[in-house]
Amino acid sequence: MTTDRQYWAEKLETQSRAEWRALKLDLLQKHLQHAYQQSPFYKRSFDETGVHPAQVKTLDDIRRFPFIDKKIMRDRQIAVPPFGDLVAVPERDIVYISASSGSTGVPTASPFTTQDFDAWMDYEARQFWSSGLRPNDRYCHSLNFSLFIGGPCVLGAQKLGALCIHAGTVPSDRLLTIIRQFQATAIWTTPSYAWYLGETATKEGVDLKKDLNIKRIFVAGEPGGSIPETRQRIEGLWGASVYDYYGLSDIFGSCAGMCEEKHGLHWAEDHILVEVLNPETQEPVREGERGELVLTTLKKSARPLIRFRTGDIVSFTEAPCACGRTSQRMLGTHGRLDDMLIIKGVNIFPSDVEAIARKDHALTGEYRLIVERDESHLDRLTIEVERVSTDPAADAELARRFSAHLKGVTGVSAKVTILPPDTLPRATHKAKRIEDRRQHLWS
Ligand SMILES: [Zn+2]
Repeated sequence: MTTDRQYWAEKLETQSRAEWRALKLDLLQKHLQHAYQQSPFYKRSFDETGVHPAQVKTLDDIRRFPFIDKKIMRDRQIAVPPFGDLVAVPERDIVYISASSGSTGVPTASPFTTQDFDAWMDYEARQFWSSGLRPNDRYCHSLNFSLFIGGPCVLGAQKLGALCIHAGTVPSDRLLTIIRQFQATAIWTTPSYAWYLGETATKEGVDLKKDLNIKRIFVAGEPGGSIPETRQRIEGLWGASVYDYYGLSDIFGSCAGMCEEKHGLHWAEDHILVEVLNPETQEPVREGERGELVLTTLKKSARPLIRFRTGDIVSFTEAPCACGRTSQRMLGTHGRLDDMLIIKGVNIFPSDVEAIARKDHALTGEYRLIVERDESHLDRLTIEVERVSTDPAADAELARRFSAHLKGVTGVSAKVTILPPDTLPRATHKAKRIEDRRQHLWS
């Protein structure tokens, strides 16, 4: 395989938008038929709603079909153990399952047939290729392998021809030793861990740019990766290019990922049908507007997901990308619907705060949001950030600057507290940065 070609699957990746729509419609019609005929759940659900796959004549017709969410999936799994009646193949055809832990402690399993798994890996290879990974790379996969959907993504890099180091989640000193010993050129981790690892190594005297050979960092699992300021900080620290990926345990590893242009994440449009909907009205939002991401699988035969409400707030564009790929791009994951704070009627996401904290180089980029309700029952937001300097002389000016920037971007006023460096807890894998002290959160 030559290493200089630009695309993994050129004809598919560069087809016109009309061709994308025709392909998706064909896949959708077949997939809905499969779900209706093979899954007891979908048969019942479609019949009860009065919809039938044969009614689907355009992509918009998906909107006649009912939503599903995590709760439905979990309930069906409990009712029909172990995988639930959304499953649409006999168990003998299932060869792999991933499972998400979830906050309730009941993991939901995502089954794959051999064909599902191979199609997924081909997509991972295509996605890695678009981010510049090549067969001469040494790729260190430091994601969790235990039932986690991110684990097998390494096989996509292997399919592409890269030398793959299956590191998993090992302690940071061990990981740095592995990266150094094998002179890895690429790594995949979460954005907060990429930062933590870089900071830790630097403190221990490692010169990330001279002692190591990392050129590409793939990140996923947190909104941080889609915030340019966060990526730029990690890039500055490592002297490497950062690519954001988006995956879901209930579908597959990378549903979308960045090409080398790094302006938005290209969707795997031949695998998933994307809707971005106003969470209240359920009407599609326009390009560039924020809405809830709702996904429908187009190929995954073991367990089709039809109109799965992800709870993730995203925005998208169909504008052509300079890389030549024509698939729709997700412009950003702004956070979870559950993470959205409503302060005095205004929506604000932790990612808005993160972008500001990372842009100001007098700040370390760490932050915490504290929401309280005062005596007059009004919401009060306090944002804690850290200065880089140990000298508190400029604190008032830093706080004023942050506060003005926040007001400009979000319309929300907040009390800003400047803390000395290394005060806030360092996040390792999944960062938790909101403390909501209000009694009734979403009532
Ligand atoms: Zn692109």
